Order: sequence, then C-alpha cells, then structure tokens
Amino acid sequence: MVTGGARGIGFEIARSFVDAGAKVVLGDLNGDAVKIAADTLGGAAVATGVRCDVTDSGDMDELIGTAVEGFGSLDVMVNNAGITRDATMRTMTEEDFDLVISVHLKGTWNGTRKAAAIMREAKRGAIVNISSLSGKVGMVGQTNYSAAKAGIVGMTKAAAKEVAHHGVRVNAIQPGLIRSAMTEAMPQKAWDQKMAEIPMQRAGEVSEVASVALFLASDMSSYMTGTVLEVTGGRFM
Ligand code: NDP
Repeated sequence: MVTGGARGIGFEIARSFVDAGAKVVLGDLNGDAVKIAADTLGGAAVATGVRCDVTDSGDMDELIGTAVEGFGSLDVMVNNAGITRDATMRTMTEEDFDLVISVHLKGTWNGTRKAAAIMREAKRGAIVNISSLSGKVGMVGQTNYSAAKAGIVGMTKAAAKEVAHHGVRVNAIQPGLIRSAMTEAMPQKAWDQKMAEIPMQRAGEVSEVASVALFLASDMSSYMTGTVLEVTGGRFM
C-alpha cells in the first residue's frame, strides 16, 4: 500500500513494486487521479486506487480494508503522502503550520499504527516512511515541514521498537532534491541554490527513491529496522 500514490515519488514506488511482482493499493487525496494511476499500473488485477485523506482515521481504515479484502493481506505500507506550505516564520499562518504537521505526522502515524496492527498478527511486514533531508538539517521557510519530517524519524524509531519482536520492520527514507511536481513548483533561484549543495551535481529521479523503498520493503533488508536512509546525491551528508 502506498499513500500519496497518484503521482510523483509515491506513484513511482508503486510502479517499482508492481514490476517486482506485488499487488498494490494506492491511496490519494485526489480520487480521480489515483484511479487513473491504478489503471496505468495494470488495472484491477494488480492495482486499486482509493480516495483517502491520510489525516482521517476512517479513510485509512477503508484504505487498509481494500488491501486486506481485495488482495488478502497487507505486507508493505509506504507512508508517502505529503504537502508543503512554505513561508518564513514571520509570515507562516497557523493554519499552514497545522496542516503540514497533520498530513505528515498524523498521516504517517495513522498509516503506521493501522498497518502495524495487521502485520503483527501476520508476524511479518515492512513499513517505509518518507521523511526528508529537510527534517535532518532544517530548511529556511520550512519550520512546519522540517518539524514534521524530523518527527517522522522519531516516530519511525519508536514504532520500530514497539513492533520489532512481532516481525514488523519500520524504516524511513530522507530524499533530497528529487524531480517531482512538488519541486518543479519551486522558483528557479531556489532550485539553483539547492543544486549547488549537491556533491553529485544533479537532482535525483523518483525512480532513485523508489528503488530504496523497494529495498526496505523487501527481505533484502530483513535485518534492518529503525533506520533512516538518505537519498540525496551526498547533500548534507
Ligand atoms: P507530490 O506533490 O508530487 O505527490 C504527493 C501526493 O500526496 C499527491 O498526489 C498529493 O495529492 C498526495 N497527498 C497530499 N496530501 C494528502 C493527504 N492528506 N492524503 C492523501 N494524499 C495526499 O510530491 P512528491 O512525490 O515530491 O513527494 C512525496 C513524498 O516525498 C512527500 O512526503 C514529500 O514530502 C517527500 N519528499 C519529496 C522530496 C522531493 O524533492 N520531491 C524531497 C524529500 C521528501 P494532491 O495532488 O491531491 O495534493
């Protein structure tokens, strides 16, 4: 299952899972887009798209129910849905602070706890949470987003400790500058500044995050839990 799976990093993670033989359920705020995304991945036999607001506990129950009832189990959960509402502290509204915290932190908490509840019964499962380099170093204009993404790291480690003995692994990824709709909306000056900080001198592709998510979702990482993998081209190492 992948939240925020209609486009960008989430969609590419879902595509890589399908290519590896998985069946996927995509959840996204945009109900039409997520159904089209599921069709693009091969339709009902391998992919289902469901409208879901990750901040809503009932929506998350429905999403997980679709996976369990439709495909028989829930083996992997990727908490990827995210938004930005950038502004310096001087101008950021309380509403935009709360919204970003809610989508990332409450959304990831909902996905993690509800997926873990099913996985611990099955005695196996992998949860992958998408944090951000912004949560490691803090970025100007992102007091809301950096706080939320750092919080995802703490949540990942706490959850990993709670469920490790049930056979459930919980890990996180911190992507750096990745080409997606989220970053393409950035002003050119901000893009150029970020590029100058990247030792590999290029932005990452969504496929380069997806391959790490596939690694953390698979038994190739069977002895890893509570870790944070940076996918950044070496930025802020
Ligand atoms: P996109 O904006 O391209 O995709 C995010 C998806 O999440 C959208 O389809 C969006 O739907 C959906 N979404 C937003 N809010 C909710 C919600 N409440 N419930 C369900 N779905 C929701 O972003 P990216 O693919 O770039 O980002 C994916 C993740 O990676 C995010 O968590 C982001 O913070 C993180 N990340 C991205 C980086 C980058 O450089 N791109 C760097 C570091 C981290 P809608 O279109 O309807 O809003």
